[in-house]
Amino acid sequence: MKSNLYNLLILFFITALVFSACKPDKGLEERQDSSIDIKPLIAAPEFNADSAYFYIQKQVEFGPRIPNTPSHFQTGTYLEDKLKSLNAFVEIQEFQEPTYNGEVLSLKNIIASFHPEKSRRILLGAHWDTRPFSDKDPENPQKPFDGANDGGSGVGVLLEIARIVSIHEPNNAGIDIIFFDGEDYGQPEFYDGEILNSSKTYWCLGSQYWSKNKHKRNYMAYYGILLDMVGAKGATFYKEGGSVQFAKKIVDKVWDAGHISGFSQFFINQTSPGITDDHIFVNRDAKIPMINIVEYDPEDPSSYFGFYHHTQNDNMDLIDRETLKAVGQTLLHVIYNE
Ligand SMILES: [Zn+2]
Repeated sequence: MKSNLYNLLILFFITALVFSACKPDKGLEERQDSSIDIKPLIAAPEFNADSAYFYIQKQVEFGPRIPNTPSHFQTGTYLEDKLKSLNAFVEIQEFQEPTYNGEVLSLKNIIASFHPEKSRRILLGAHWDTRPFSDKDPENPQKPFDGANDGGSGVGVLLEIARIVSIHEPNNAGIDIIFFDGEDYGQPEFYDGEILNSSKTYWCLGSQYWSKNKHKRNYMAYYGILLDMVGAKGATFYKEGGSVQFAKKIVDKVWDAGHISGFSQFFINQTSPGITDDHIFVNRDAKIPMINIVEYDPEDPSSYFGFYHHTQNDNMDLIDRETLKAVGQTLLHVIYNE
């Protein structure tokens, strides 16, 4: 994922609203806890953070999930088998895309549907690939990294949600889970060669493809929630600018659920600048309102996500069960109260 606000602006002609989201103290008025509408709540099943942690570790053990490598292939097979073992209807969308330097990547979006007879769908997403280089690492910019948080955490939380949904059927919603491929193959900071097509975005290849070629022709979801970097110790989740622009009501609903579930220290009622991530293409091309739960570090706005981002430090040492629990339990609250 790329935290370049200006790219986002240029690419999608997003104007004043997102731009104003960059500036603290301006823009959207935030709702306070006291204004949350209290309605009878359905207790969601318990999210097991140990289980989510295990699923992240399992991915990391395969090695970096870099497209066109054996680790990537093996992880794809593991995810497919795991979802099938949970009685999901699994569809694999295989495709090839050239990347910034002309190399052609063999990619795979993995889509799992639960209770497909239900017409009201909630789409949950995360990317399952890892970036091929730690280009923000001062010592080893060319080296791959584990991607425990960037990639691994979102998939781990969603596998645990899949496990729960397979046991406890939600009343009013069918759940679709999509693992996007090729999210993190954007041009590295050290690259000074020629760009294949300078007007194309080489981030988010899987979501770009899916949004224009949905696995079911007329597939629609009521709304979508993307997870990216949802496992680091002490992470905070601000209302990301693109999500607010496209789907403010869903952002508010999820953040309220976070507060109701007791995780207000994670879900901060302030906006953060918009970023290029998979949800942007789902909103723009698939026309499904999708928000992004993504870490934002206000202490270090230049890195946006956290010190570990695209460095060798993105490994299991970062991953904290409390953060996984906050995100997973909040999502379950949303799903079971739909
Ligand atoms: Zn990344």
